[in-house]
Amino acid sequence: MNNAYMESTDQVLVHTYNRFPVIFDHGDGVHLYDEDGKEYLDFAAGIAVSSLGYGNPEIAETMKNQIDKLCHISNLYYTKPILNAATRLKAASQMDRVFFTNSGTEAIEGALKSARKYAYSKNNGRFEFIAMEHSFHGRSMGALSVTGTEKYRTPFEPLVGGVKFAKYNNLESVKALITDKTCAVIMETLQGEGGIYPAEKEFLQGVKQLCEENDMLLILDEIQCGMGRTGTMFAWQDYDVKPDIMCMAKAIGNGVPVGAFAMTEQVAEYSLAPGDHGTTYGGGPLVCATVDKVLEIFERDHIVDHVKEVAPYLEEKLDELVEKYDIVTARRGKGLIQGLVVTKPVGQIVNAALEEGLVVISAGSDVVRFVPPLVITRADVDEMIVKLEKAIVKANQ
Ligand SMILES: *Cc1c(COP(=O)(O)O)cnc(C)c1O
Repeated sequence: MNNAYMESTDQVLVHTYNRFPVIFDHGDGVHLYDEDGKEYLDFAAGIAVSSLGYGNPEIAETMKNQIDKLCHISNLYYTKPILNAATRLKAASQMDRVFFTNSGTEAIEGALKSARKYAYSKNNGRFEFIAMEHSFHGRSMGALSVTGTEKYRTPFEPLVGGVKFAKYNNLESVKALITDKTCAVIMETLQGEGGIYPAEKEFLQGVKQLCEENDMLLILDEIQCGMGRTGTMFAWQDYDVKPDIMCMAKAIGNGVPVGAFAMTEQVAEYSLAPGDHGTTYGGGPLVCATVDKVLEIFERDHIVDHVKEVAPYLEEKLDELVEKYDIVTARRGKGLIQGLVVTKPVGQIVNAALEEGLVVISAGSDVVRFVPPLVITRADVDEMIVKLEKAIVKANQ
């Protein structure tokens, strides 16, 4: 029965995903349930999206109320939800101006356009981007152009021109690529898909300084690592460095499709103007009412403080696994975005975990990634470790 359902799905969809053999039906808190009622502890959160967990009644009620009032209206008009959401996001991000998109990749597109327009207005002859090897910024053509994984890019070339790739956490490699044509440096504050690598403080601060010295903009992609996950509202806020443009998505809507890019007033002054950019759905009332509520809950329930409280416990428990199992060689990460480096095929461990009723995902070719809902407790960490150990033992046989 389930097999037939999966086969039919694979026949009607473009084959871009090899899905895990599970049909999820609903979620509650930090747990997911499949069609047969089997319970799974979720340490993936839909890839760092469902940070407040599933079935949050306040968020559901907010959405239902807004559906009854108004789902969609063009950006040609004002609505209260867009003002409320943008005001909260502005405060949380410490940026000055916000543009809502429908996804992360669109936030990157907007950021790249913003940087190009800034340089164009300043008439400084700059148009090149410096991006990072092993970065991930999304699947649309612009975002793909700055994504540092060749196998994602190659089939779709030629992409947007003027992009060079530096080595992450290697300041000299960035310096070597700067010319009088460079308009911006784009990077994740913590590389997610690339294998859970946090930026080193000296690196990010060094890049910022290079940007200031060379009239280049710093674009930070906080789509995965932002929204409280690393123990500050946005990951860069722990670095004494401020981006000129930043990209957000994933957790800002807790599951509704939304992204945003934001910029400082200094950038905005020379950047996008009426007619330069737009979106039909971005910033719509349904999504913005949700973002407003999500951010309200983050503030009211001190979600970031909770991350700081529970994350050291997760780190400690993961470190114990590094000690205990030969096939687990290292832990990397910050806050509630963590990775375990393994010497067995990571897919085997992820699959074995799923059988044990634990949802985790991979990052890169050899990292098990943990991006749980931010509301997990120590008891959830304990339950996760028990299941993960069983999966490690199984994969090690
Ligand atoms: C997920 C992700 C994106 C792309 O977001 P989509 O919503 O899938 O388009 C971009 N950058 C990073 C760091 C991401 O993790």
